[in-house]
Amino acid sequence: MQQPRVVTSVAAAPDAAGAVPLVRASGVTLQYKTPDHLVTATYRVSFDIFPAERYVILGPSGCGKSTILKAIAGFIKPVEGQFLLKNKPVTGPGPDRLMVFQEFDQLLPWKTVLGNVMFPMIENRIPRADAERRAREAISMVNLVDFTDVYPHMLSGGMKQRCAIARAMAMKPDVLMMDEPYAALDALTRRKMQDELLQLWNDIRFTLVFVTHSIEEAVILGSRILVLSPHPGQVRAELNSPGFAYDTRSGAAFQELVHKISHMLFGDRAGTN
Ligand code: ADP
Ligand code: MG
Repeated sequence: MQQPRVVTSVAAAPDAAGAVPLVRASGVTLQYKTPDHLVTATYRVSFDIFPAERYVILGPSGCGKSTILKAIAGFIKPVEGQFLLKNKPVTGPGPDRLMVFQEFDQLLPWKTVLGNVMFPMIENRIPRADAERRAREAISMVNLVDFTDVYPHMLSGGMKQRCAIARAMAMKPDVLMMDEPYAALDALTRRKMQDELLQLWNDIRFTLVFVTHSIEEAVILGSRILVLSPHPGQVRAELNSPGFAYDTRSGAAFQELVHKISHMLFGDRAGTN
């Protein structure tokens, strides 16, 4: 197995030779102003995300991961630095950056898979016929055709995830974002959802920005991992993850990478979660 390589500069991303990043964070400082506090969530964070990457933002609780996603989504403006989307400054929210929430019970229980996938398009005033065509395409892409007319309560967790992703994909976003979607799941279900997500990524090759505080999850899911320091989040490192198939996750290379990141984050107090 190839040794993971530490990437210390944003220019060294795997497929970067001249390519325009989908998302570029350049020197981004994010803050919250409350009546009596100024909270700095991230400090001068820079990274590039390229098409079809599984880009994982990893760091301990409170280091600003969710804040970064909210800023990519355009809900929070940096006080320093900026986010670029395909070279254009992010100025507000848009359907080109979509968040896929877990609690896949986000699906409307009274609508079928087709109805759920069409819903955001209808809300965005896309003509019904177009919305249906795009919804059916997306449903086929995630392999749910046989369940097109089924209601969410008939779907497994994995199928709900696929439905939620189809719903986002039908909007043709540039990036899909997920914020600790599996944090509340038991270990077995979590593993299943991770495998499903990887399988789906393998089929569709969308650009994924995935936030987690679990080192193992980052190593399992990421093609690249941005390691953030504890509060306020600063970039500790950017690592390539070689991708670990199910049966290599207990192997030496996997453990070594988990350990290395653990050490980066916690030094001698290293734990893996
Ligand atoms: P993470 O997702 O990595 O756990 P967050 O991005 O949620 O971290 O939070 C980063 C920091 O910003 C934390 O210190 C948190 O307490 C603070 N924070 C988050 N949301 C708000 C808010 N709405 N108002 C004030 N401070 C906030
Ligand atoms: Mg968070």
